[in-house]
Amino acid sequence: MTASIKPFNAGAFTASIPGIEVITEPSQLAKLSQDYHTFSPVLTPLLEGKIADIVVRPANQTEVIQVAAACAKHKIPITVRGAGTGNYGQCVPLYGGVILDMTRMQEICWVKEGVARVQAGVKLAALDKKAREIGWEMRMAPSTYRTATIGGFVAGGSGGIGSIQYGLMADKGNLLGLQVVTLEDEPRVIELRAEDVQKANHAWGINGIITEVEIPLGPAYPWAEVIVTFDEFMSAAKFGKALALSDGMIKKEIGVFALPIPQYFTALRQYISDGKHAALLIVAESSLELLPGLIQEFNGEVTYSKSAIDAGKGANIAEYTWNHTTLHARSADTSITYLQSIFPTDNLKTVEHMHQHFGAEVMMHLEFIRFKGSIANPALQLVRYTTEERLNEIIRYHEEHGVFIANPHSYFIEDGWKRAIDPEHLKFKQMVDPYGLMNPGKSKTITP
Ligand SMILES: Cc1cc2nc3c(=O)[nH]c(=O)nc-3n(C[C@H](O)[C@H](O)[C@H](O)COP(=O)(O)OP(=O)(O)OC[C@H]3O[C@@H](n4cnc5c(N)ncnc54)[C@H](O)[C@@H]3O)c2cc1C
Repeated sequence: MTASIKPFNAGAFTASIPGIEVITEPSQLAKLSQDYHTFSPVLTPLLEGKIADIVVRPANQTEVIQVAAACAKHKIPITVRGAGTGNYGQCVPLYGGVILDMTRMQEICWVKEGVARVQAGVKLAALDKKAREIGWEMRMAPSTYRTATIGGFVAGGSGGIGSIQYGLMADKGNLLGLQVVTLEDEPRVIELRAEDVQKANHAWGINGIITEVEIPLGPAYPWAEVIVTFDEFMSAAKFGKALALSDGMIKKEIGVFALPIPQYFTALRQYISDGKHAALLIVAESSLELLPGLIQEFNGEVTYSKSAIDAGKGANIAEYTWNHTTLHARSADTSITYLQSIFPTDNLKTVEHMHQHFGAEVMMHLEFIRFKGSIANPALQLVRYTTEERLNEIIRYHEEHGVFIANPHSYFIEDGWKRAIDPEHLKFKQMVDPYGLMNPGKSKTITP
């Protein structure tokens, strides 16, 4: 598939979208053309200077349709943006054109028992708060839940806090419906339901503009936050696994961090002594009573415990997990970068091997999730970066040992979690984006 992009003509384009909010001020354009690909020393120079010609901020679906029609008419590339917290350069407009900022579309259409429908620009924390009013909550959220939008999570995220209970966003049942606006001459509004949601799920904004999301909720628990420290990293990892496998214990987060990672958690340092590895946990209060027995088995020590009523006051444990770990480490040392991996299910043998093999060069950060009916270990290891060659060597070594790498140092969809564009994705793209205008350049399969 090839795209038919034409040069941007500001006058002609803006004349096609009268009354819709736009931004053309250069420093704002530069800011809104960025995301968190800057965690990668490889992506940073590659994406430097890639800036949109205009940012458009629709207030409702009618305005989204008008912008889509204008882009199709003038053959202008369009990059949809939520909060811009993606970390693969997903929101960076490689070919300029329009950034479609969805953050004004913040309506929570409805919330009922077990399910909610919201506009794409709704922040995850706002939906969670609303759902909690009736005893429900988001099943899972990225550690960026306070700023990230639901549209951006569906189109660019994968899972996070809550995935230990519910799996990943891509898993059947974690997304019920998507409303998508096409980039045709006369844009249509399509409702995708059941299996069809996968046509736009994790499509990085190349398969239509998501305007509404219908998402299942989980029962809201009172969540306690706990920090456990360990002398041995493998004791921490084995404890994490034992807790993950305790099906009757309700948990939302199990993150395990090898030394010296906890030292980057400034606000938590007082609870984690130097020389200790740590596990950061979010557990339902009803399961807390069972925790000490399990911790004792692995020689851990509880150093911090916050009841549900106090969680959210002061430091939030969730904001030290997933890719927030990288954020904290980089605040202390910008030469640190990271990997995104899934370890084979071999009773933590490969985890132990990599921990020993790389030592301080690759610091182990393990997460635990429910995955295809079992427990899996995604990891977001911190890497002391030296050269791109060495980084690729580290990646290769992991792959040779059966570790799946969703490469955060590439901006191609095919190098990420999915490793390919599904033929169904491509078929849908040909229909919804016949001119190849959506986020061009992000797929190896589609020539801009
Ligand atoms: C510190 C940090 C921690 C993170 N932790 C996690 C984590 O725990 N789990 C996780 O999965 N991710 C994580 N991420 C990545 C990212 O924050 C999440 O995926 C987040 O959900 C993205 O939401 P957003 O609104 O910022 O999306 P954006 O970054 O704005 O967009 C992401 C992608 O979705 C597309 N898109 C956005 N909105 C729409 C729409 N309405 N229609 C069509 N396409 C759209 C964009 O074009 C882009 O390709 C983290 C990132 C950082 C920097």
